[in-house]
Amino acid sequence: MKIIIAGAGAMGSRFGLMLHQSGNEVILVDGWEDHIKAINENGLKANFNGEEVVAELKAFHKDHLDVNFDADLVIVFTKAMQLDGMMQSIKSLLHNETKVLCLLNGIGHEEVIEKYVPLNNILLGNTMWTAGMVGPGEVKLFGNGSVDLQNLAPGQEGIAKEVAEVLTEAGLNAKYADNILYSIYKKACVNGTMNGLCTILDVNMAGFGETQEADAIVEAIVSEFAAVAKVEGVVLDVPEVLAQIKGCYNRETIGEHFPSMHQDLITNNRLTEIDYINGAVARKGLKYDIATPYCTFLTQLVHVKEQILGAK
Ligand code: NAD
Repeated sequence: MKIIIAGAGAMGSRFGLMLHQSGNEVILVDGWEDHIKAINENGLKANFNGEEVVAELKAFHKDHLDVNFDADLVIVFTKAMQLDGMMQSIKSLLHNETKVLCLLNGIGHEEVIEKYVPLNNILLGNTMWTAGMVGPGEVKLFGNGSVDLQNLAPGQEGIAKEVAEVLTEAGLNAKYADNILYSIYKKACVNGTMNGLCTILDVNMAGFGETQEADAIVEAIVSEFAAVAKVEGVVLDVPEVLAQIKGCYNRETIGEHFPSMHQDLITNNRLTEIDYINGAVARKGLKYDIATPYCTFLTQLVHVKEQILGAK
């Protein structure tokens, strides 16, 4: 398959590298000059489960796309706030048959992608893979993961299954899901509680979960997610979602980790994806006339913190 990775940071590099290694024709498109230069000069370097790997991939700057590439598939892996700009930049490379797979965290990305490609060509998914940047041209890829994905328009299951197969052949362990919006909302509830709260409070997930107020705050946030999801036909199993969130407090497993938003803002001084998690619920709440005070307040607090820290 001819594949464009649109947004080749940590996750885009993982998917690009693994799909390249399994024989697909892959190009990377990104906006980070130093990263693109390093990849084109030295290849994409990865510490891949402890082994040093170099992949000879070509990287292009999104604003100077002097390439002819008849893509079958685009996998978008920007941060949520960069998605629209990236779609705008690559639109000259999209044709009637190009499929776009979105695995970003957060909700509502289909509304952005739909401005550039027909609904029939959009695939949405969730991934449990992780990845980290070491520096320009270099990533750290550890552990295992999986991908669940589904077509957004009815009747396009064949395409979604074909893409899942290509990902699986690359070792990405993908499967067709028949209710992807449910999984996306469920994951957004975990991110919509752990990410913003642990970032603002500067605490790991166990540290937050062990406080007396944790349950009440988490339940209030999840009830706001559940109320807007319901209007969109997604009925969340709230006790199941709460159990998954509370599982994050376990010190024996992942409780001592800080969520990715904490790393973005507190460690790396980067802007967060809060507008596409709690912020998205607040916007949907306004649209559907549902009160979302917790999501609104948490979104505001994270933006205040971004400004205090001068995040970019
Ligand atoms: P990332 O920050 O590594 O990359 C996103 C974009 O930011 C890329 O275009 C990258 O080149 C650019 N970028 C990264 N560091 C930069 C720097 N120092 N200077 C300038 N530009 C820089 O993002 P990611 O972790 O690959 O995440 C992409 C999407 O996948 C997000 O929606 C995220 O929530 C989701 N996600 C990430 C992980 C993970 O483990 N990283 C896991 C699951 C889902």
